[in-house]
Amino acid sequence: MTSSRFDLRGKVAVVTGGNGGIGLGMAHGLADAGADLAVVGRNEAKSAAAVADLKQRGVKAIAVTTDVTDKAAVAAMVDRVVKDLGRIDILINNAGMSIRKPPHELELDEWNKVIETNLTSAFLCSKAAYPALKASGNGKVINIGSMMSIFGASFATAYAASKGGIVQYTRACANAWAPDNIQVNAILPGWIDTDLTRGARQQVSGLHERVLARTPAGRWGDIDDFAGIAVFLASPASVFVTGTAIPVDGGFSVMA
Ligand code: NDP
Repeated sequence: MTSSRFDLRGKVAVVTGGNGGIGLGMAHGLADAGADLAVVGRNEAKSAAAVADLKQRGVKAIAVTTDVTDKAAVAAMVDRVVKDLGRIDILINNAGMSIRKPPHELELDEWNKVIETNLTSAFLCSKAAYPALKASGNGKVINIGSMMSIFGASFATAYAASKGGIVQYTRACANAWAPDNIQVNAILPGWIDTDLTRGARQQVSGLHERVLARTPAGRWGDIDDFAGIAVFLASPASVFVTGTAIPVDGGFSVMA
């Protein structure tokens, strides 16, 4: 049956930054396909709202308040998910942030904060979840890159470095964990309407119009645009797909 390839019933997914934006869009897709969810973030009110929303879709959902840059907190988060939901089959490393400054103005602590949040967190979460993902029998890791994994921007100094790095980290893990039947892939979102880009639109003048003009689909992305790709990369349908970085960008990355 075709639909069984996309069936996530009985699976447990951890989504960092799953309490809003793109992470919540992906969590919606996974819940609709039957997966139980652990939403990982720092903002308890946002996480509680996301959990209520996900439960309404008929699955189990828990919030695990965690700073994903903190190694001990990440280890405790993984233990809690396994204790409360029984297993981990899917890990989505989505938590991210940006500090928008050119290279000559960015301070070391700002550089470190962006790299730790966007890149080191994926390393910490993936490493901590690896035993559970291996035990799953068909583990899935989905890392969230960006158009800045491909292009540069004057204001995206540490952000572009982190998002380029996450693609290479994805490829390394895909190689390392293929013998465990764990697939590791990246999604590269185009310009999506979220809290993150609402800040960018305020800071970078003309950004809104430039994105519209440069996107063949003629619109900003929506968080719903990430439900389908998340289900595909989390499901048995993608068992021979690993190490890829898939743009979900309305054609932004292929416009001449
Ligand atoms: P949001 O700001 O809406 O979401 C970011 C999420 O990350 C929040 O849910 C936040 O949760 C969480 N987060 C940030 N820092 C930490 C931390 N230290 N520990 C735990 N959670 C953390 O932005 P988006 O949905 O837009 O971004 C999601 C991902 O998509 C990011 O990796 C971003 O770089 C990427 N992306 C976004 C694009 C866009 O156009 N929007 C384009 C390309 C990539 P909390 O507040 O609870 O800590």
